[in-house]
Amino acid sequence: MPIYEFIAKHHRKSCPTCRDGFERLLRHTDPVPAVCPDCGAPIRKCISAPNVGASASGFDDRAKATGFHKLKKIGQGEYEKQY
Ligand SMILES: [Zn+2]
Repeated sequence: MPIYEFIAKHHRKSCPTCRDGFERLLRHTDPVPAVCPDCGAPIRKCISAPNVGASASGFDDRAKATGFHKLKKIGQGEYEKQY
């Protein structure tokens, strides 16, 4: 039996059960619940995404790769390219 994770659709309309998500065992014949069993708020099936946030870690590398340069002013009208 697959375990499904559910979480409240609207954070402001939720209870401690559905606010942070809860797991349910569902048979294939079971209807997928649309509301929280505790408070009746609308819920949605959670799609697990373990790599969320991983793309942000490469930001500096991407900034350099896209050609950003840093210039330091060293005198009247003179600039030293730092990278
Ligand atoms: Zn709830």
